[in-house]
Amino acid sequence: MSKQQTEKRRLFSFDKSFSTNVIFSQPDKYKLLEKVSYNSNNLINIGSNLSYSPLGFSKESLSINIRSFDRILHFDKKEKTITVEAGLTLIEFLNFTLKHNLWIPQLPGYPTITIGGAVAANVHGKSCGKHGTIRKSIKSILLFHKTHGWLNLSKEENEEIFDLTIGGIGLTGTIVSVTFELMEIKSSKFTTEKKEVNSIEESKKFILDESKDASYTYTWNRADNLINFGKGFVYKNYLDKNPSDFHGFKEVKRKFRPFIFPMWNKFSINVVNFLYSKLNKLSKSEKNENFLNVIFPFYGNENYFNFFGKKGFIESQLLISEEKFESFIEEFKSLFKQFEPTITLFSLKNMNGKQKFLRFEDNKICITFDYVNNKENLLFMSKIDSLYDKYDIIPSVIKDSRLSKETIKKSYNEELISFKEKLCKFDGKRIYQSEISNRLEI
Ligand SMILES: Cc1cc2nc3c(=O)[nH]c(=O)nc-3n(C[C@H](O)[C@H](O)[C@H](O)COP(=O)(O)OP(=O)(O)OC[C@H]3O[C@@H](n4cnc5c(N)ncnc54)[C@H](O)[C@@H]3O)c2cc1C
Repeated sequence: MSKQQTEKRRLFSFDKSFSTNVIFSQPDKYKLLEKVSYNSNNLINIGSNLSYSPLGFSKESLSINIRSFDRILHFDKKEKTITVEAGLTLIEFLNFTLKHNLWIPQLPGYPTITIGGAVAANVHGKSCGKHGTIRKSIKSILLFHKTHGWLNLSKEENEEIFDLTIGGIGLTGTIVSVTFELMEIKSSKFTTEKKEVNSIEESKKFILDESKDASYTYTWNRADNLINFGKGFVYKNYLDKNPSDFHGFKEVKRKFRPFIFPMWNKFSINVVNFLYSKLNKLSKSEKNENFLNVIFPFYGNENYFNFFGKKGFIESQLLISEEKFESFIEEFKSLFKQFEPTITLFSLKNMNGKQKFLRFEDNKICITFDYVNNKENLLFMSKIDSLYDKYDIIPSVIKDSRLSKETIKKSYNEELISFKEKLCKFDGKRIYQSEISNRLEI
């Protein structure tokens, strides 16, 4: 594709639940970004298209990809700030900042995610119990909007649009560059400690107690059957106190390519969980780990996703309060007994922040489940959806592509209404639209 032109492409959501033909454009100059934006009625932004839900495309919208905008525009070591273009990937970003012993700690689990995608999804990393979401590191944004033109966004300038854009799933315009406040990082090496747990209650206690002193605290729990439900391991990662030299990460191209035949089923999950538990029991409770393994756990483990096959998977990520956690889990287990869902991943971490608009952020516990995408599991998940109201649960729009507008309306409530109202006030024509924004009628 010549960079100023558009082309047709078939795009899939990362979870493979949705695909469609779209018109795609990758401008490489700001003037071309303006031109392609002016030439289409409906637009949506797309980064590396690594969102589980179809957030960066729609049949009716031109998908604008700004991956060509990948420069570091300004760096102030003394002030610890950096301005980068939004097409830069996380690994490219870290290759620059870590050389100066600086970084942002709110990094989602894959290195080729773009800065623009990370900001628009208000991503979090494993240390969200301590560092919250990426919102906490953003100082300002340069946005291009088809009718409003170029806008500087920060707490001082266009504050409302700044707030709408972070976690605004690309609906406020194109994020062209972002200025971050950086944090010091002495070493890029980690020590990982692990401990076996026998129940989900034990895991919960661990993440709540330990995230006070260790930044990275999370769990791996079994959900392959009711007997094993909640058994597993809890982990803490510490950054080494001794300074280490950083030599840059080599980016190895890895592919997400689903297997023709799905490999995950009740039997294989049970076997893999059993072997993983055995290996964990036999290995040392403390070990040194490199930065990429800790921060980007799926890098090099892409087959975990490929094993779901062409029908893919559904991830459900939920925020729930400490107080309501146990009762919800009891009800979850009782439905589990009835429906016997096929779950490949079950994990907990602590989250801190304040819920607003569509942002997946709060002072709550974050529960993650990955399900094989089949009829039985979808039925089970719909039963779980009906519990959100009772337990004040917030589901993630970024992760769960299946969520209905009714579920989102009920769980996000006033915040969804406020997001929609402010967005429509800013952009009466609602130019930027994705498959998900259309489905949710945002
Ligand atoms: C293996 C894996 C692990 C992950 N781990 C985590 C995790 O730990 N924590 C977490 O929070 N998320 C995680 N994610 C989800 C991921 O961080 C988000 O979905 C992220 O938005 C993907 O970025 P992207 O560059 O692929 O953007 P896309 O998926 O292409 O787009 C995502 C959203 O951002 C918008 N967008 C993209 N670029 C721009 C731009 N320049 N201007 C305006 N809007 C834009 C799009 O419109 C869309 O709404 C993970 C994803 C994968 C595949």
